[in-house]
Formats: sequence, structure tokens, C-alpha cells
Amino acid sequence: MSWFSRSKRGIESQEKKNLPDGVWIKCEECGEIVYNKELEKNHYVCSACNFHFQMSGKQYINLLMDGGVLLTFNDNIQNADPLKFRDTKKYTDRVKEAVKKTNLKSAVQTGIGRINAHVVVMAIMEFAFIGGSMGSVVGEKIARAIDVALERKIPMIIISASGGARMMEGVLSLMQMAKTSAKLARLGDAGIPFISIVTHPTTGGVSASFAMLGDLILAEPGALIGFAGPRVIKQTIGQDLPKGFQRSEFLLKHGFVDSIIHRKEMKQRISEILDFFTS
Ligand SMILES: [Zn+2]
Repeated sequence: MSWFSRSKRGIESQEKKNLPDGVWIKCEECGEIVYNKELEKNHYVCSACNFHFQMSGKQYINLLMDGGVLLTFNDNIQNADPLKFRDTKKYTDRVKEAVKKTNLKSAVQTGIGRINAHVVVMAIMEFAFIGGSMGSVVGEKIARAIDVALERKIPMIIISASGGARMMEGVLSLMQMAKTSAKLARLGDAGIPFISIVTHPTTGGVSASFAMLGDLILAEPGALIGFAGPRVIKQTIGQDLPKGFQRSEFLLKHGFVDSIIHRKEMKQRISEILDFFTS
């Protein structure tokens, strides 16, 4: 029995009023209200605190590829539903919604394009597609993209953004870690460079496979990169975690990441790296 009881019936909570879509955006990090057009000009980086907002695959293509062009392949591969999986909704419905939301058929786009005239094979993950989770289609598309890099002897770049393996596909999603890693090993044996770019957030099975296998691993500032989340680790080891744990800057200091690159310098820096690797 409680000591006090309310005399009046509940306090009515007000519905959170969202800002009009696409005009103003509140920075997740510093709370600054930023004009969307300004943000777009600034490659979706907060001008007040340097926070890197998530970008879509299309926005990365515009940022990095010459003429904003990536000739994509294997666009139409779609997932099956081997476990007939259902949690709060059916897996097939979840996929349908993601397709509608992103206009893509999977959580990764793969293709060929140029970065300051260097021909590269790109794979760009889409976080908005079921948290950028890696199911059998993502794994297959990345594996096939690596095959193209291998056949044509051109550098491979993967931009990761992922919550991990897609558990709705059970062990088939976990298998993709081994498959993509094995393909990258072949690329390494052939002496073809692989650059991994990790963005916020890159966790789970993606961080435990290709994202951490780059000849060079580049990260965007402030990105959360790790396997299990900080809360799970804290519960497991029963200790407080150091400040900034699992962020790019922390990982750079501890040798997991080779360099942190601001988005506005990304194209130039990648092109310099490609100059170095291919000269
Ligand atoms: Zn900010």
C-alpha cells in the first residue's frame, strides 16, 4: 500500500511536438537547433559541436563518388524468411516496411564508381534498413562485391553502419561473418587494398567481421564502434566503463582504428590513401 494517493486523476502528459519535418533538426549531441539546409551543406555535421549525423547510402554516394555516381549491381537480391520469423511483427512485414522507407531492397548498396578518378568497388550500408543488420542478402552482396574487386584488381571500400547480424535469419545471418571474412582474406592474398570506413554505430556481427578487417580502418568522429553495447558489458563485468568507451577517439587511442576522418575531408583523404596504395 502506498503512503500517498493522488487526489486527482493523473497528470496528463503532452504529446511531444516534433519540429516540422525537414526544416529544423535538433542536434542529438548538443541540443542545438540546426537549419536542415545548412546541415545538408555541411555534410550533415553539426556546426556547433561537430556531431556527425547519420547519412544514407545515397548521401555517401554524393559525398564521395565522382559526379555522385555509383553503378550499383545485384540491386534486386531479396531475402527469404527461412525461419518464418515473427517477433512483434512478421519478419516479411518488417522487410516490406524497410523497402518502402528506404527505396532499397536490402541494407547495403554495392557498386563501382570513381573517387577522384580512382576506380573502386564500394559497399555502403544503410542503417535505416532494419538497423543496417547483416542478413544473408547483405553478406551475399558484399561477398559478390569483393569478387568484383578481386577479378578486376581494384580497391574495395566498405562503409559500415550496423546494429549487427540480423537475428531474424538465425544462423544464416551469423554465417555471413565467416563468408565475408573469407572473401576479404582472398583479397588480401591478392594484394588488393581494402579500406573499411566505420560510421555511427557499427556493432555486433559487422564489427566482428569485415568492418575490423580493413588494411586501413577509418572512423568518423564520435562513432560508437564495438561488439556488445556498453550496458551489456557493464552488467557482465560489473564495473564502470571508462569515459568515451567504444567511441572512435577511444578506439584510436587503443589501436583499433587507424585514423579518424571528418566527413568534409573524407573524399580527399581516401583519394590520398588510394594514391599511396596504387602507385
Ligand atoms: Zn551539435
